[in-house]
Amino acid sequence: MNTPPLLALHGIHKHFGPRPDWLERLGMRLGWLPPPARVHALDGVDVEITAGEVLGLVGESGSGKSTLGRVAAGLLRPDQGRRLWHGEEIAAAPMAAHGIQMVFQDPSASLNPRMRVAELIAEAPRTHGLIARHEQADYVAGLLRRVGLDPGAASRFPHQFSGGQRARIGIARALAVKPELLICDEPVAALDVSVQAQVLNLFGELRDRLGLTYLFISHDLGVVRHLCERVAILYLGRIVESAPADELFTSPAHPYTQALIADAPTLKAGKKRFVAIRGELPSPLSPPSGCHFHPRCPHAFARCREERPVLRETAPGHRAACHLHDASL
Ligand code: SF4
Repeated sequence: MNTPPLLALHGIHKHFGPRPDWLERLGMRLGWLPPPARVHALDGVDVEITAGEVLGLVGESGSGKSTLGRVAAGLLRPDQGRRLWHGEEIAAAPMAAHGIQMVFQDPSASLNPRMRVAELIAEAPRTHGLIARHEQADYVAGLLRRVGLDPGAASRFPHQFSGGQRARIGIARALAVKPELLICDEPVAALDVSVQAQVLNLFGELRDRLGLTYLFISHDLGVVRHLCERVAILYLGRIVESAPADELFTSPAHPYTQALIADAPTLKAGKKRFVAIRGELPSPLSPPSGCHFHPRCPHAFARCREERPVLRETAPGHRAACHLHDASL
């Protein structure tokens, strides 16, 4: 019997926007008001993560990658779609109850500045009954050692640490409830390059030692290449390509992935998005059916307007959503 993926997301849609009140709804029904603009953060996303795998999720700012991470963790309820854990459907629920934890980009924002490190790390395992109060000190010391910090750090406050040390505290906190899956949302984006490398190596060591599975979300292709075995590319709320990491970087199939790899050094958070080559700026408010990144696309985007390209296998384990790869062409 086939083992189901550790986590599977099927047909996930998540849109954000103002909810019209009754008067606006009436106006819309009578045709006096247009429907309110809604951000299509996720538009029919399918993702599967196998136990022990490191899956990288890459996209620009606004591609929906953080929303997908929060949906995967159960912190956000999707508008449509299914979320399966070990093959069983689960509703949005506390992460720890399902062996999922998140590591956030800004550890300062996720660490209560008024709590000491010992309390920050022990809070969740005590709440979930994993440890008793008298076991707390040893448990916290063990976790601090595991992430490369001195156990003496337990009595200090988050602001007394450097950015890299706070990142390690955030990781120790996530490990405290013995998760199977860590969802890491830009966990090294705020760190200096030298510290980034150390923290990435720590992720690698922890995975080998604890048998963890990662969903690693990043805008930085270099970071993803360093750590991930498989990569999925998210473009305006849709996965447009997924492949083993080596193959994706050597033979990208989708024009958007090719553009990302070609422009990798400028792919920094907050920098301008790719400029549309067909005049319109791609936006999650009205996502296009295809991409805007292939100047020589023989369909001139026309076929994508009529028929949204779906993910199709272009090589074993390599899938891309682009009509240029349709067998019928
Ligand atoms: Fe982009 Fe669609 Fe043309 Fe493929 S077929 S290059 S997805 S516009």
